[in-house]
Amino acid sequence: MKQLVVLGSVNADHVLRVPHFPRPGETLRGHSYQVLPGGKGANQAVAAARLGADIGFIARIGDDAIGRQMRDGFAADGIDVSAVECDPALPTGIAIIYVSDEGENNIGLSAEANGALTPEVVERHAARIAGADTLLLQLEVPLESVLHAATLAHAAGTRVVLNPAPAQPLPASLLALVDLITPNQTEAELLTGVAVTDEASARAAAARFHAMGIASVMITLGAQGVYWSEQGEAALIPGFRVTAIDTTAAGDTFNGALLAEQLRGASMPEAIRFAHAAAALSVTRFGAQSSIPHLAEVRAFLK
Ligand code: ATP
Repeated sequence: MKQLVVLGSVNADHVLRVPHFPRPGETLRGHSYQVLPGGKGANQAVAAARLGADIGFIARIGDDAIGRQMRDGFAADGIDVSAVECDPALPTGIAIIYVSDEGENNIGLSAEANGALTPEVVERHAARIAGADTLLLQLEVPLESVLHAATLAHAAGTRVVLNPAPAQPLPASLLALVDLITPNQTEAELLTGVAVTDEASARAAAARFHAMGIASVMITLGAQGVYWSEQGEAALIPGFRVTAIDTTAAGDTFNGALLAEQLRGASMPEAIRFAHAAAALSVTRFGAQSSIPHLAEVRAFLK
């Protein structure tokens, strides 16, 4: 099977369920508190693995119990963890997450060991990147490391997929190396200057991405679905209607699922339908990695 390499973050998610997001100065009593495995890189790697991809993960955890526990979890999900390095000095990355009764989330991050995933670390795993079919990147590790990994992949003919999250401005030099970009509405607006609300505005944003040298564009629009555009083909492909409990990792599940199905040989529209199903299942469940479905569940959902 074609290999997917994910390079990205690992976070311990400290999740507090609240009736509504606290206003400035407000102290609010939560319903429940849990520490759950998260981080965009890890979530996307776990999604791809649970959905059947052959996957290697390049990441950095702290030398602490939560980091080791999460790495064991990745291995149990079938991920090759030989490039999940342990930082001797820094703790595992942390996210503080509020989840409201409406199922929306609000997140603060501290990079910790993710910040030590330097270009030198990326360089140690150059052969793995060069040997993969696809490299999947996000933006919770240092930007210069993302750029270095994309440069290595591009030079080796490995397809570069960028999920440009969390939203931040990016250099044209990075965007020019990207084969497929998968922003949500906020990220698409930040990178193109076009406020994406519907099909027409998504088409305008996609045109800007194409002008930056990106062949394939996939803008996720939450419950509305995705706008996909590549090589003259374009469509707004709606998602599945479900009752959302917690949208944490919906986008991560979508990205991992999309590539897992595509690497099995599916066309882009087929892979989008599969990814919509996986992401829809994930929003009906609580947490990040705890909400990501397995292949059999997605197949059953699509029957
Ligand atoms: P998050 O940051 O919450 O992980 P995101 O903002 O990166 O998500 P979205 O555009 O909100 O990404 O959603 C990604 C995909 O998840 C959508 O394309 C869709 O397949 C699915 N999805 C998200 N929200 C819903 C919902 N309420 N109902 C059904 N599917 C959803």
